[in-house]
Amino acid sequence: MSKIRELSSILSDQIAAGEVIERPASVVKELIENSIDAGSTEIDIEVKDAGLQYIKVVDNGSGIESDDVKLAFKRHATSKIHNRKDLFKISSLGFRGEALPSIASIANVKLKTSTGSGGTELNIRGGEILRCIPAEARKGTTVEVSDLFFNTPARLKYMKSPATELSKITDVVNQISLGHAEISFSLRHNNRELVRTSGRNNLQQVIGGIYSLNTVKKMVKISSTDDDFKISGYTSLPEMTRASRKYISIMMNGRYVKDNNIVKAVLEGYRSKLMIGRYPMAVIKIDLDPLLLDVNVHPTKQTVRISKEEQLCSLISLAIFKALEPKNLIPDAMDKT
Ligand code: ADP
Ligand code: MG
Repeated sequence: MSKIRELSSILSDQIAAGEVIERPASVVKELIENSIDAGSTEIDIEVKDAGLQYIKVVDNGSGIESDDVKLAFKRHATSKIHNRKDLFKISSLGFRGEALPSIASIANVKLKTSTGSGGTELNIRGGEILRCIPAEARKGTTVEVSDLFFNTPARLKYMKSPATELSKITDVVNQISLGHAEISFSLRHNNRELVRTSGRNNLQQVIGGIYSLNTVKKMVKISSTDDDFKISGYTSLPEMTRASRKYISIMMNGRYVKDNNIVKAVLEGYRSKLMIGRYPMAVIKIDLDPLLLDVNVHPTKQTVRISKEEQLCSLISLAIFKALEPKNLIPDAMDKT
């Protein structure tokens, strides 16, 4: 008797969900990334009880064709890459085709979408499609997620306090909006507005909204380009530091990533101007040819591998060093657009 059996798709989706969907903030991240990939200019997020009870993401992006709606919930089904070559030049935030099936395998999901004419509504719970019907909707997609982790009690127990879970959601929205000043974001929790950005492509304004106007006043603009990388953003004067490195945000091709070597490069740019244990606040945007960036390292795609990383790190250090030279130390006037 053979002992090896193939798992059902629902079970394998739930296993994948264990990696991709760690907490409510992961759902928010995945849904917003889908909305960005769909070309949205407005993304509104609503959560109740720190996301454990309810998460809604509304976008005005491309929408999903009726014929594709069920397929979008199948594992490894994606519109973003088609072949091996595409895998090495990823320009979208998603590409693994895992988020929707993962979320739907451990929650109750309602998706309503339209590409501009007609539309579709799909209900799915614990990986089982309950209903998929034509429905009128405005162009874009709305995803509602409730009862998260209803069938994975161990994961539910692992949740931290509502305040902590909510702060992780706010962090996700803030970080993504720093990487996409051209999109207007809003986040509401239990009917209270926590985040709102204008979408007017003004990074200073986004930084000011997230931290404070006084913070922006103590930041200088950085900008540098070579044959492979384009760096832009803002970094704080040495007098404004924090005790944690979490205020150093790194965006690579619009993706919020964590990278210790880049953080080190930022610190090196300050030479001896920082006290031990103190870190600047910075938003570092890096644009590069997707061929130089491997994002297929971890399911959450926050860890990346960069070709020519040393070259990039030197460029960042130098850009920061130059921006902090005394002759350049006139913080950027706030642009009022
Ligand atoms: P991935 O983003 O890796 O492709 P997902 O499971 O997140 O995988 O989504 C599956 C597919 O569903 C996407 O490739 C996309 O075609 C479609 N999709 C998901 N969310 C949206 C959205 N908000 N707007 C338009 N299409 C979407
Ligand atoms: Mg996705």
